[in-house]
Amino acid sequence: MRTRLDHLVVSALQQGAAVPAFTCYDFTTALAVVEAAEAAGRGAILLVAPKTAATPNGLRLISALRGLADSAGVPIAVQLDHASDLRVIADAVAAGADSVLADGSSLPYEENIALVREARAVLEAQGHAGVVIEAELGGLAGDEDRAFGLDAGTGTGTAGLTDSAQVEDFVARTGAQLLAVAVGNVHGKYKGEPQLRWDVLQDIAVRTHIPLVLHGASGIPAEELVKAAAMNVGKVNFNTELRTGVLATLEAQTGPYRADGENLQGLLGKWNASAKDFAAGALSTLTK
Ligand SMILES: [Zn+2]
Repeated sequence: MRTRLDHLVVSALQQGAAVPAFTCYDFTTALAVVEAAEAAGRGAILLVAPKTAATPNGLRLISALRGLADSAGVPIAVQLDHASDLRVIADAVAAGADSVLADGSSLPYEENIALVREARAVLEAQGHAGVVIEAELGGLAGDEDRAFGLDAGTGTGTAGLTDSAQVEDFVARTGAQLLAVAVGNVHGKYKGEPQLRWDVLQDIAVRTHIPLVLHGASGIPAEELVKAAAMNVGKVNFNTELRTGVLATLEAQTGPYRADGENLQGLLGKWNASAKDFAAGALSTLTK
């Protein structure tokens, strides 16, 4: 069943768990995520990239994901990820997204706040006051959709680590219901071992009651991720590792399935299995 993202995350935190969120560029991956969530008896979040949502086909994908969430046997939320374009936010919500990351983290502090507030105003004017808004404070290095090796916490000429001293003011003025933080996590691949700044995360967690969100979880070892919920991190975003697994599967299996009578259906089954295995692993890690 489709559910409010904030309710899903808060109820997981109350059980000492976090909810995984998976970027879905396509419906095959989304089906696999929902199947894994149903098998685990846990909720999950389907993320749509802003570049996806900026196209007519992407908006149709959002509508399809909403239908998938409605029919799921466990709570599922559909979120527009990392959007800074108000038009994309409005279109994605009109198409069926029930939550949005209004991401002004690359902007100066006051402009970041203004973007989140404008996003809320646009959605309210559209009659979508119930949409859940995540905001981001601190700059994450890396690219959401393409992975290259990155040093953790280097930033990309943006704010770098979340400044915990800004957290209370930022949350109060944006009205955000979840807060994405930069604590040494990056989008894409980590160069060497990721060094998460648990001290910074702890400092943030004591300053706000809203759930925190960790982006760029691919590459962070499971023994680190299991600590997240204790720091009020209720949502953990995965993308790169999911893509890596699917692409490796397709690379290995395309030849055999072509030889097997151009068997696209069989190949899609392997795609599904790869994504489902990954999602099952993430679900299990975050509920330990
Ligand atoms: Zn992200």
